[in-house]
Amino acid sequence: TGPDTPQPRPNIGAIPPYVAGKPPTVRPGMTSYKLSSNENPYPPLPGVVEAVQEAVGSMNRYPDMGSVALYEALSERLGVPVGDLSLATGSVGLIYQLVQAFCEPGDEVVFAWRSFEAYPIAVTAAAATAVKVPVLADGRHDLDAMAAAITDRTRVVLVCTPNNPTGPAVTQAELDAFLAKVPARVLVVVDEAYVEFVRMDDPVDGLATYRSHPNVVLTRTFSKAYGLAGFRVGYAVAPAPIAAALRAVSLPFGVSTVAQAAAIASLEREPELLERVEALVAERTRVVDGLRDAGWDVPEAQGNFVWFELGDRTADFAAAADEVGIVVRPFAGEGARVSIGEDEANDRLLVLAKEFQK
Ligand code: PMP
Repeated sequence: TGPDTPQPRPNIGAIPPYVAGKPPTVRPGMTSYKLSSNENPYPPLPGVVEAVQEAVGSMNRYPDMGSVALYEALSERLGVPVGDLSLATGSVGLIYQLVQAFCEPGDEVVFAWRSFEAYPIAVTAAAATAVKVPVLADGRHDLDAMAAAITDRTRVVLVCTPNNPTGPAVTQAELDAFLAKVPARVLVVVDEAYVEFVRMDDPVDGLATYRSHPNVVLTRTFSKAYGLAGFRVGYAVAPAPIAAALRAVSLPFGVSTVAQAAAIASLEREPELLERVEALVAERTRVVDGLRDAGWDVPEAQGNFVWFELGDRTADFAAAADEVGIVVRPFAGEGARVSIGEDEANDRLLVLAKEFQK
């Protein structure tokens, strides 16, 4: 490459990589479990698979670009107007669209760190500036510091609750106090990717919050609680002008025909899917209690994952996990995030964590 070759914008080279969770290691005679991407261990329900199989027959055609049936199903389910919704290619697509629609180059996006790794990627890709506010020692957002970080250039604040990868969620009282300090011109995105897993006192009521705040957007996904990560469907709930801006910058046909079918069929089977969520929450409780009994000081886990702060022991922990057939997501020098998975996988994690302490 040189001056005579096409050059991407300078900020493109500065985009940090997205490190996808590793697949399970294949070892003869040993089942290995993938706990590295906060996926749902349950496969799609048979009725969802059937709906998808039926939709496959029309995959020679483009999808319904308006995703009309899915918008209507979501609108009915959530009790919000269709105009307040914006579907996307996963909720990560919404993060890109939000930054693209609201930030000029050099504008600032404030978020907690460590948090979801796609945030700095989306922000840098748009030539906006990432303003990272360290999480507190217990993994919670430092909302006071985040409010204090807002400047004249701030256009968006991302609040990840529950926070990936540390685990805690913000309370409604904390969110209200924060929103009271945020100027009305600043968009507050509440990333609720794991909202269905929250079991706490005073949980955030996202829908009530968006209804009472013209600058609040919720982002949600079918990837986690609904177990459709491979289909890539996310959605935003936002005041109509914001939702319209998101739809305007969306990728045409970004939600495939099979993805629309899977999401609709899942909404129709929500009670069964929420039973699975309940089982995963029970497993989460078992894992967290077991870890604390074993002397681990893990943060409150409100998503479908647990955070181990390990510092320079992170790589060793990931390697030891791999040895016992579980794949975790290491963050070099910081810690490891481990998804709640199959009961057997969670058993192995508990045994490993007891051994690793010694
Ligand atoms: N937000 C958070 C906090 C996440 O952890 C994830 C997935 N890891 C997403 C958004 C994106 O999920 P998806 O694009 O599958 O909807």
